[in-house]
Amino acid sequence: MKKLLVARNIGFCFGVQRTVEIAKRLLLHYRELYSIGDIVHNPLVMEDLKSKGLKVVRSKDGIEGGRFIVRSHGIGPTTLYSLKKKGLEIFDATCPSVKKIQALIKKLDKEKYFIIIIGNEKHPEVMGLQEYGTRTLILGKDGEPPALKTLDKIAIIGQTTLSFEEYIRKAGYIAEMPFSRKVVIYNTICKVTGERQKEAAEIGREADAVCVLGGRNSSNTTKLYETVKRYNRNVFYIERMEDIEDIPFLRFNSIGLISGTSTPEDFIAEVKKRIKKTGYREVQYNGK
Ligand code: SF4
Repeated sequence: MKKLLVARNIGFCFGVQRTVEIAKRLLLHYRELYSIGDIVHNPLVMEDLKSKGLKVVRSKDGIEGGRFIVRSHGIGPTTLYSLKKKGLEIFDATCPSVKKIQALIKKLDKEKYFIIIIGNEKHPEVMGLQEYGTRTLILGKDGEPPALKTLDKIAIIGQTTLSFEEYIRKAGYIAEMPFSRKVVIYNTICKVTGERQKEAAEIGREADAVCVLGGRNSSNTTKLYETVKRYNRNVFYIERMEDIEDIPFLRFNSIGLISGTSTPEDFIAEVKKRIKKTGYREVQYNGK
């Protein structure tokens, strides 16, 4: 029988789970809540929260009063301060792992480190992190290593969803640049995303095809998709149920199923049900 190989690490991570629960609780109570940008990167989750009263604005200028939720990716202190000044009641739903990095940057800043953040300069997590230091620089995806004058102390921090290999490669490169006297590299890659990347590579090698479930705007889902693609060319990005229609099920004896950290359980269950209808038996991936 054909096999549907389901990843062990699938569905919401604890950070996203927590943020969504906080938002739902607040919406049940207050019926209206503001956020800057999507609080988690999944359109299905966001549509549900918006139907419950979440108002997503592009910037702080779009909010005049009321209650505000800080998304899982966190927020910078300057933005937070200006929201408080507007009289907003703030509820912090930042993922605890991101909060730890914010605190680390604050501490390093006090210790006079120059902080280089490796990550996507347009991602809310990275934009927020940068505000916690006074001397920081973001090294983006295709960014050239910075041309800096000699610095005494450099600390390197990575966006939580980076692949570990990519982070180490870039951080190592900076450490060898002539401007660096003392360089400290912190492993800030989220353990959850690291485990999923590892599993994605394994399932990518084992299954005939792989479905990667998650929002197209989700950084960690995109990384999973790219990881699988390195080992398997039959990889399908499934954001909504209609994306499944593109899969030529007849061609594959086994299909792997993995998801980003903001993909909801009910969507995963629906996808499984749809695939199983075409003759696949669900098997949990046991790891290597
Ligand atoms: S992936 Fe990691 S850092 Fe991001 S929300 Fe989940 S637990 Fe937090």
